[in-house]
Amino acid sequence: MSTTTAPDHDVVIVGAGFSGIGVAAKLDKAGVHDYLLIEAGDGVGGTWHWNTYPGVAVDIPSFSYQFSFEQRPDWTRTYARGHELKAYAEHCADKYGIRPKIRLNSTVVDATFDDEHDLWRLNLESGERITARFLINAGGVLTIPKLPDIAGVDSFDGITMYTARWDHTQDLTGKRVAIIGTGASAVQVIPEIAAVAEHLTVFQRTPIWCLPKYDVPLPRAARWAMRVPGGKAIHRLLSQAYVELTFPVSAQYFTVFPLAKRGEAIGKAFLRREVKDPVVRDKLTPRYAVGCKRPGFHNAYLSTFNRDNVELVTDPIDKITPTGVATVEGSLHEVDVLILATGFKVLDVDSLTYDIVGRGAVSLSRFWEENRLQAYEGVSLPGFPNFFLVCGPYGYVGSSFFALIEAQTHHIVRCLKRAERQRATRVEVTEAANERYFDEMMRKRHTQIFWQDSCKLANSYYFDSHGDVPLRRATTLETVWRSRRFPLADYRFTA
Ligand SMILES: Cc1cc2nc3c(=O)[nH]c(=O)nc-3n(C[C@H](O)[C@H](O)[C@H](O)COP(=O)(O)OP(=O)(O)OC[C@H]3O[C@@H](n4cnc5c(N)ncnc54)[C@H](O)[C@@H]3O)c2cc1C
Repeated sequence: MSTTTAPDHDVVIVGAGFSGIGVAAKLDKAGVHDYLLIEAGDGVGGTWHWNTYPGVAVDIPSFSYQFSFEQRPDWTRTYARGHELKAYAEHCADKYGIRPKIRLNSTVVDATFDDEHDLWRLNLESGERITARFLINAGGVLTIPKLPDIAGVDSFDGITMYTARWDHTQDLTGKRVAIIGTGASAVQVIPEIAAVAEHLTVFQRTPIWCLPKYDVPLPRAARWAMRVPGGKAIHRLLSQAYVELTFPVSAQYFTVFPLAKRGEAIGKAFLRREVKDPVVRDKLTPRYAVGCKRPGFHNAYLSTFNRDNVELVTDPIDKITPTGVATVEGSLHEVDVLILATGFKVLDVDSLTYDIVGRGAVSLSRFWEENRLQAYEGVSLPGFPNFFLVCGPYGYVGSSFFALIEAQTHHIVRCLKRAERQRATRVEVTEAANERYFDEMMRKRHTQIFWQDSCKLANSYYFDSHGDVPLRRATTLETVWRSRRFPLADYRFTA
């Protein structure tokens, strides 16, 4: 039962990446103006603010990797580079009047639901305390860099860098460089480093499927076509169809439409065409199906291994020494710079950036640890009233993040509007609705590619610590439709 204690804000949004910006724009449109965005970084854009390594770019065509309500007619390339996406985030923050409501350089360390007053109490790293009726987590899923579990990683005497926190004061020209990891970021940065370094040693645990990318400057005619009525819509429709077929349909409906097999054939042909040495080619050939983990898209990654100054090492790493990387076979690769391209702590029980404590002092990470990762429609959980996730478990289908952000935001705004109409101070999804959704995901998941035997060899971050893959078995269209049609009776609205 709520008393009259008024919170500082109606809504606090944690994170000012595209999710936070998208939520804020939609809240304003819905007439919810009292919100605050709290962002740990010193700028907006999230992923594209933090990841500035050479070659960083999106893997989804720019026509799809943008808000439907803010489509740019002037992307410079079919696949935007990181700095262009960062500029797009800045543009959206300004155009939609969000910037004055963003607090940068501020980190939320914990948030606790106050059961008596129906509000969230947040503690910031600075010691400041903030209260909000509703808490929306837009803290991202590829946010916290994952350190490799390798002995001696702190003992290296040279320069150590993470791809996710690139140090632009370091010049790699003429240096001996080692990179650990061959995931999606490594695919983009390796060709750039190889072009300047004296020598580059690439340490690979699991090869990645690398597919060709139609990455070209946007022809003037295409840019012009986007300015004529309907032009943007046509480009977006074609792009969405391509993304839908290559990502969600291939991975989520693999047993129905085995398109991923075609992807594998393309990947193998690309390897044959690009890599000259058959031994190196064999080492670069994945032994798992294409969709088991996120593939790379790059036109120069594979051919980089033809260069004389690039060496691929597949012997497992034993340890890092003060001078380089030692493998279990006993060789020591001495280098000046060590680059960790070892990914992120992805959606899992320990991936939250701050402690979220719901009713009965239950923390979200403990809830997930005991009950497996879950969230109703990927958005909300019983026991965590007035709390919403933009990219919760079983929310993301694998297409453009913008489709996800807009669908989840629609879901959240519907709840907030109903709460406003009913003067409710507490909104909580029912246990029955959450259970029904989780059961549906479990029942349907057999069509996903992830349950192929070969996926066990992929070392894929899609799998969580329970062995589940918390991706939504659905198409983007279904996700969008359900965000508009889910029964509001699945929530309890009380005052
Ligand atoms: C290198 C790279 C390439 C990618 N390429 C693609 C792609 O091709 N297609 C695609 O769809 N997706 C891609 N992604 C995924 C990308 O993360 C999403 O597309 C999207 O940018 C996520 O936006 P977000 O706002 O949800 O999260 P983020 O962009 O991660 O933003 C979250 C923000 O929250 C802040 N934050 C987190 N915790 C706190 C806290 N406790 N206190 C204060 N602030 C906090 C962080 O500082 C961060 O700025 C890529 C990701 C990476 C890392």
